[in-house]
Amino acid sequence: MTTYDYVIAGGGSAGSVLANRLSAHSGNQVLLLEAGQDTPHGKVPAAILDSYPGTAYLNPAYTWNQLKVTTEVIPHNDPGAPPPPRRTYEQARVLGGGSSINGQLANRGAPSDYDEWAARGATGWNWDAVLPYFKKVERDMDFDGPWHGRDGRIPVRRIFPDLWPEHAKAVGRAFEAAGWKFIQDQNAEWEDGYFPITISNAYERRVSAAIGYLDPGTRLRPNLTISTGTQVAELLFEGHRCVGVKALVNGQMQEFRGREVILSCGAIHSPAHLLRAGIGPAGHLRDMGIDVRVALPGVGQRLQDHPAVAVAAFLKPHARIIHDYTRRHIYTALRYSSDLPGIPAGDMFTVVTNKSSWHAVGEQIGSFIVTVYKTYSETGSVVLTSPDWREEPKVDFNLLSDQRDLERMMDGVRRFGAMYLTPIMQEVTSDPFPASYSDKVRQVGLVSKKNKWLTDAMAKLLDGPEALRSYLIRTLVMEGTTLQDVLTDDEKLEAFVRKAAVGVWHASCTCRMGADDDPMAVTDPAGRVRGVEGLRVVDASIFPVVPCANTNFPVLMTAEKMADAILTGA
Ligand SMILES: Cc1cc2nc3c(=O)[nH]c(=O)nc-3n(C[C@H](O)[C@H](O)[C@H](O)COP(=O)(O)OP(=O)(O)OC[C@H]3O[C@@H](n4cnc5c(N)ncnc54)[C@H](O)[C@@H]3O)c2cc1C
Repeated sequence: MTTYDYVIAGGGSAGSVLANRLSAHSGNQVLLLEAGQDTPHGKVPAAILDSYPGTAYLNPAYTWNQLKVTTEVIPHNDPGAPPPPRRTYEQARVLGGGSSINGQLANRGAPSDYDEWAARGATGWNWDAVLPYFKKVERDMDFDGPWHGRDGRIPVRRIFPDLWPEHAKAVGRAFEAAGWKFIQDQNAEWEDGYFPITISNAYERRVSAAIGYLDPGTRLRPNLTISTGTQVAELLFEGHRCVGVKALVNGQMQEFRGREVILSCGAIHSPAHLLRAGIGPAGHLRDMGIDVRVALPGVGQRLQDHPAVAVAAFLKPHARIIHDYTRRHIYTALRYSSDLPGIPAGDMFTVVTNKSSWHAVGEQIGSFIVTVYKTYSETGSVVLTSPDWREEPKVDFNLLSDQRDLERMMDGVRRFGAMYLTPIMQEVTSDPFPASYSDKVRQVGLVSKKNKWLTDAMAKLLDGPEALRSYLIRTLVMEGTTLQDVLTDDEKLEAFVRKAAVGVWHASCTCRMGADDDPMAVTDPAGRVRGVEGLRVVDASIFPVVPCANTNFPVLMTAEKMADAILTGA
């Protein structure tokens, strides 16, 4: 049996980078195992290549479909309270992972985020140390200079205001009227303002980590083996050394041996692998009947995501997207400061969507998605429901467990709800309402003939008489709470925010890097799992705290930096 130098479990954003960089040295034998399907050049599914991501992430062929999560805070002092609903939470199951289905927003976060990483014990991960790796990831097609890379594997670009639909242009004017300035490049100086969002996309095609890092040239390397349709079931140990994995390949269980195993299964599945291997909180492992190999209380704990809610509105026909040069649905976003005491600047992020789904009704609804980027809610968790590798873990995000997150979310709904009442926004929208990304909305977003037919019919009615439109939005689109409710009654606003807040797929921090004396640290700053040998975690799990960014580029940066550390013997 071949013994590989590196067995990488999970071919997502991080796994794709690692497979490329570690196999660039011909002496290394590298094996990449991915549960989902391959996306080889020339055969990348159209939905994945599409600049509009909604049909990729709602396609069950590319996601872990049994996974359900809770987002609302679970009260621990009220055992009689009904449990919050379990919701769908898409996690990618396809080569390229999240980068194959995500919204393609490509940003980095605040310099202070990475200085905080270092301060929390991830020595060597401060901003000055990570910036070169952010640059290494990208090939910026618009800007050069000290902030940007020109030779990276992931091209990034922006759609500038002259090409924005009327709705996005009006939002820009409304932002300026509210005192925010226009910034050309969100990935330069960290300052407040609105900007054309940076996207990982070239010539109107998504560039996933698999497309960028596992390109035809890389796949020619004889020392790189990529095995898709391969679900890792178990980590294999000899004593305290991880020596390989067992994985299901085409219905057959096989063993793969490695000098080092790197877990890159993402922030929900990587901690689950550690827990099943007996690495985690001792009490929980015993409850599951799993022998404790290493008691590491931090495994699966302090799960984070960015809490978000939306205020939406009907788009007047002249303001909608004209799909003549792009299928993108988001052009601009706003970074602003809540100015709450002690919170760093640029803590809030509001994305402006110009369509909410692929279907005809989706084309008629735009929104402000208000998101707390500097979140202080870090009480989420991933725990096992069973030692069986086929069972999904129990995932509770506990979003808004920190009062400051709730307050900023409420403030955001007030700000952007009120913005819909300004003449600038009324020129392009009508019938604003607080919105939630519920499972009902997801159901209608599944691509099917029935949904197309239903939404075609509904869209015609919505474009009809004003009174009928308002009635239909009130009775069929809204979920109970009106804009008037949230703007005039703080109790109703708080209830809406608590119920409607969802994560934006930035699950992270469940196997945090940290210092030796931090009991909650799961890995050291080189990703090595404490208490065992031959095992690292490299993916969004190891973030010490989620940065003020969409998480794909922070993951790509992390994997680039880790690959360097591994190759130089760290
Ligand atoms: C719908 C969606 C929209 C998003 N939008 C954005 C955005 O616009 N911009 C942005 O920056 N970020 C976005 N993100 C987040 C970003 O894509 C993720 O943070 C990032 O991809 C995580 O990288 P990762 O390597 O940690 O995990 P992943 O990319 O999720 O990779 C994990 C991989 O491991 C595989 N795997 C898991 N378990 C096993 C197993 N047992 N055996 C084998 N393989 C396994 C999975 O199938 C997956 O391919 C989005 C994510 C999603 C899901």
